[in-house]
Amino acid sequence: MAKRLIVIGAGPMGLAAAYYAAKRGLEVEVIEADDRPGGMAAHFDFEGLSIERFYHFCCLSDADTLALMGELGIADKMKWVATSMGYFVDGQLYKWGEPFSLLFFPKLDLISKIRYGLQMFTATKRSDWRKLDGIAATQWFKDWAGARAYDVLWRRLMELKFHDYADRVSAAWMWQRIKRLGNSRASLFEERLGYIDGGSAALIEALVTAITAMGGKIHLSSPARRILIAEGRVRGVETREGRQIMADEVISTIPTPYVPALLEGAENDLLAPYRRIENIGCVCVVLKLKRSVSSHFWVNISDKRVAVPGLVEFSNLRPLPHAIVYVPFYMPPSHPKFGRADEDFIADSLLAIRLVNPDIGADDLIGAHVGRLRHAQPVCETGFAALIPPAQTSIKGLQIADTCFYYPEDRGVSESIKFAKGMVERAALRAQA
Ligand SMILES: Cc1cc2nc3c(=O)[nH]c(=O)nc-3n(C[C@H](O)[C@H](O)[C@H](O)COP(=O)(O)OP(=O)(O)OC[C@H]3O[C@@H](n4cnc5c(N)ncnc54)[C@H](O)[C@@H]3O)c2cc1C
Repeated sequence: MAKRLIVIGAGPMGLAAAYYAAKRGLEVEVIEADDRPGGMAAHFDFEGLSIERFYHFCCLSDADTLALMGELGIADKMKWVATSMGYFVDGQLYKWGEPFSLLFFPKLDLISKIRYGLQMFTATKRSDWRKLDGIAATQWFKDWAGARAYDVLWRRLMELKFHDYADRVSAAWMWQRIKRLGNSRASLFEERLGYIDGGSAALIEALVTAITAMGGKIHLSSPARRILIAEGRVRGVETREGRQIMADEVISTIPTPYVPALLEGAENDLLAPYRRIENIGCVCVVLKLKRSVSSHFWVNISDKRVAVPGLVEFSNLRPLPHAIVYVPFYMPPSHPKFGRADEDFIADSLLAIRLVNPDIGADDLIGAHVGRLRHAQPVCETGFAALIPPAQTSIKGLQIADTCFYYPEDRGVSESIKFAKGMVERAALRAQA
């Protein structure tokens, strides 16, 4: 009889795990809290436009997404576009992200520019990250490019994204982000990013179709309440409604801050690492506008007048009938601003947009949507490599991971897919034994 696997969470990691496990002959059930699959990459209906709640782009290095799309027969949906980046500093928008823009950037002296350019260039070539794990990203920036470059280019971005954690974020994590984006280029002068035709939902839907075609089941609006354990091995999962689904293997892919509640009564040794990892939340505003803010896909903002680190004009990547701009507000869920009304975040977003492009007026706004996540970004602090527990827990048959388990890689769809493959490999080997 086929061994049974329960996957908790139907984000990219959970669905990829279910897909690869079903292919390996396991009987699969996926339990998802939300009313839709996709996790952080899920779509919503933006007045007739199906689009991600949180912006999603692909990089040329996203090999595991590309391979999975090939297997699912949707490889042709990946589209690559020449994109550009801007930097809005003290009231002025500058082109950014290639050697000439750095050369002509008026806010830094030549020596700082050379030091900054060297840091970015060597970061894209580097592969050893162990030393960077012990260094704070803020220190790494200052050591390479100098205090002035840090103040102009990084300080505001770090403080607005990580708040009190800004000086604790590991350089290894930051380096990996810079490398992924820095290498997604057709040439030194041309950035190249990807989107999926139809959005991330095209990949999510193809996964759901493939899983169910292989006999797998996906339960939506059905949060896991408890992981069932007896005599040192996993037995199954109990859902919020009290239904117990028995299994030989369980893979949890939900954000680790939620894990201790599912393992109530477990030994502190097992729970402590999940309690130790901190996360930043995100309130992400999506605006539909009558006209474009700029020609750039991404605009970093360093301007004291707005508490916004950047704008993502998604319609400059994926062709859409209107200008679609994402404005992310990152902050710990305990931050007093996290619970503010949607209207306040929308008003702040419009303020930032009108700073960057004063021609945009209130009547250019067609629609707005606000998405919230309590655990959107793990804080990968210095020494983080030693804080991550093994995905295979001390409980036989139980694996637990989330987006910080593939540190120093940043959270990403492709990385979650790759990690899922490794977990399924272990479960499948046990099933064969
Ligand atoms: C603002 C933002 C922008 C991003 N941009 C990009 C990008 O441009 N490119 C990119 O590659 N990646 C991007 N990402 C990251 C990407 O979305 C994640 O890496 C990916 O979705 C992680 O997938 P996952 O399955 O590991 O986790 P998640 O997507 O978090 O999925 C976990 C799932 O578990 C479910 N869950 C939680 N609790 C329970 C429970 N008790 N029982 C059952 N289910 C539960 C959740 O509802 C969720 O569906 C972005 C993320 C954010 C927040």
